[in-house]
Amino acid sequence: MNKKDLFSRQNEETERLRKKFGDLLKGVRGTIEVGPGWIPLLEDLLGRLAELSTTEEPIEITCIKEKFAGLRVYLEAFESLDEVSTAILLAEIESYSTCELCGATEEVATCSIEGWLKTYCAACTKEEDGKPTKRIPVTLTRGLTTKVIKAG
Ligand SMILES: [Zn+2]
Repeated sequence: MNKKDLFSRQNEETERLRKKFGDLLKGVRGTIEVGPGWIPLLEDLLGRLAELSTTEEPIEITCIKEKFAGLRVYLEAFESLDEVSTAILLAEIESYSTCELCGATEEVATCSIEGWLKTYCAACTKEEDGKPTKRIPVTLTRGLTTKVIKAG
């Protein structure tokens, strides 16, 4: 997928989510910086958070982005955090085994690509001429997400 297609798809999808989850997302400043491959897991998470949000205690998301190769979702201070933070953590864990670009779950690795940590599948890290890009698999040590990744 070339960069232009990627960003236009990302914008379409995040605009769709903003319409669908208006109340949850009205506090999000700036763009939702998540590649198209993670939209399904983000949409599931937003669905879950919409269920947990109440009139007395509305959930207000302030930021959704990719950071250090994983999905991050930040909220305004919230009292009943348990179920909410579990839902967010599960989506974060899932993001480490889902290609951020195409959503594949096979041959996915967290890699250093040109100095950026990204979670991409093998196919998405090929250059347009079919050669693999410089892709250095890394092992993250973050609780449940720790895994050993073979060189791709
Ligand atoms: Zn991919």
